[in-house]
Amino acid sequence: MMRGLMQDRPLTVPTLLSRVESSFGHKRIVTGGATETVTTWREVAPRVRRLARVLESLGVPAGACVGTFAWNTQRHVELYLAIPSSGRILHTINHRLFGEQITFIVNDAADDVLFIDRTILPVVWPLVSSFGTVRHIIVMDDGGDMPLPDDPRVLDYEELLSRQADGPFENVIEDENAAASLCYTSGTTGNPKGVLYSHRSIVLHSLLLLGADVFALSEKDVVAPIVPMFHVNAWGLPYAAMQCGSDLVLPGPVKNPDELVSLLSRHRVTFSAAVATVWRDLIPLLSGHDLSSLRHIACGGGAVDDALSHTYENAVGIPLTNAWGMTETSPVVTTSRLATHHDGLTGEERRLLLGSPGPAAPLTEMRIVSDDGVEQPRDGRSLGELQVAGATIASAYFGADRDGDAFTPDGWLRTGDVATIDEWGYLRIVDRTKDLVKSGGEWISSVVLENAIMSDPRVKEAAVIGVLDPRWGERPLACVVASEGAILTAEDVRTHLGDRVASWWIPERIELMNEIPKTATGKWSKQALRQRFVDPTTESH
Ligand code: AMP
Repeated sequence: MMRGLMQDRPLTVPTLLSRVESSFGHKRIVTGGATETVTTWREVAPRVRRLARVLESLGVPAGACVGTFAWNTQRHVELYLAIPSSGRILHTINHRLFGEQITFIVNDAADDVLFIDRTILPVVWPLVSSFGTVRHIIVMDDGGDMPLPDDPRVLDYEELLSRQADGPFENVIEDENAAASLCYTSGTTGNPKGVLYSHRSIVLHSLLLLGADVFALSEKDVVAPIVPMFHVNAWGLPYAAMQCGSDLVLPGPVKNPDELVSLLSRHRVTFSAAVATVWRDLIPLLSGHDLSSLRHIACGGGAVDDALSHTYENAVGIPLTNAWGMTETSPVVTTSRLATHHDGLTGEERRLLLGSPGPAAPLTEMRIVSDDGVEQPRDGRSLGELQVAGATIASAYFGADRDGDAFTPDGWLRTGDVATIDEWGYLRIVDRTKDLVKSGGEWISSVVLENAIMSDPRVKEAAVIGVLDPRWGERPLACVVASEGAILTAEDVRTHLGDRVASWWIPERIELMNEIPKTATGKWSKQALRQRFVDPTTESH
């Protein structure tokens, strides 16, 4: 074989740092919150280098995981750059998970150091004694009022930075396939599973997002990732913004919809991304704010409901654009777009099309495979499991439980989503085979919830299914059978769950039954339960 004669330069996160510094020093990073801050890459880049020195001075070994519990902020962006660029692994953690899951995740990753926003400290601090490997906890003061614990492991972010001098950045990443960041996703049963991104996959994914038929991000954009930076790296948007030099507007610890809309409006945001629940919460505020700068509203992580999209079309002038992806896929695989063959569509048809997942982005491939392993035709009708492959898609899970079942012998990822693909390559998600309920963009494991309910001796059987919910997308519905002679109410079940699962996991709907229908092999027949409790006309996405 004759090799090409091109430069073999690794695709790495530090190339993004040099890019923002050399080309986009003046571009802004805004962080919302009680005191909004506006800074530029010119100011942020030296802080990133100092932060890398902080990690060195704390003796964080090369290849160690560094955990973050943080909102979408400038400091989190600094961590996104400094940790991977200095040869460590950025491990973003969702603080909304239940305590036991957080403990599992921190210990599984063997995090050496944790960076925690002060407003999140009250959630994490009570768990610290269960973290086996953490040597330092670095608090980022975002105005939270929890007093800093009197503990030698606790250090202050700004103080550590101020002790370091600025200096050149030594590029330690020679291999683009080195691990760069780690995110956990919920498993159907048992423990969350880690997805370990490489420098190469992060850079390729950042380029993929810029594509004119993907998000078309450019220097002219003002990008506001509302999706949390602990959720698949905010869908890769911070790295994409570095690649193209757009301004970044980050909500910070902002919780209330009023502040969020005002942030989008004041900073003339052109591109923003969030799950449907967030977009739904903003509806009452749309008429009071000028959002005319928005050119693309990305709505991912679940289906787009057309009524919601229609509301945006009327109030803001553009509908929502859907995207499909998973933690395992960096995450973006598809996003919708209008192609040449859609020229004759009516306004409503165009909105519906943009609200569907759309075709595969560059570098990614999709196929539909039936239960007996046969690849299905692209006719928009033939159902099967969606399988995906590409340089931005996981080949195994992190850690001991690599979960071979999730990958086919020819190396494709089995998504657990049931779908069709049409002749133009457009994806339609029809159902999900994995036993998970997605509420407000976050997973609830039916199996874990069932076990928590059944740990009450008054309960004989419990089965959980997902039902559509106008606000959260889906909510769990629990079907519960009481033990012989036991007296049990729905409220008893909820009280029992109170200290066993996160409060947002507790089902509003609990159906007390005499028996749970079973399949031929004796498992709960979730299909029968769905038929009984879910309106069959609204079940599919
Ligand atoms: P996560 O790993 O948390 O990002 O979740 C990925 C899963 O969310 C997918 O396997 C789907 O079940 C669901 N999902 C993501 N995007 C969409 C979409 N556009 N339409 C329907 N379901 C989606």
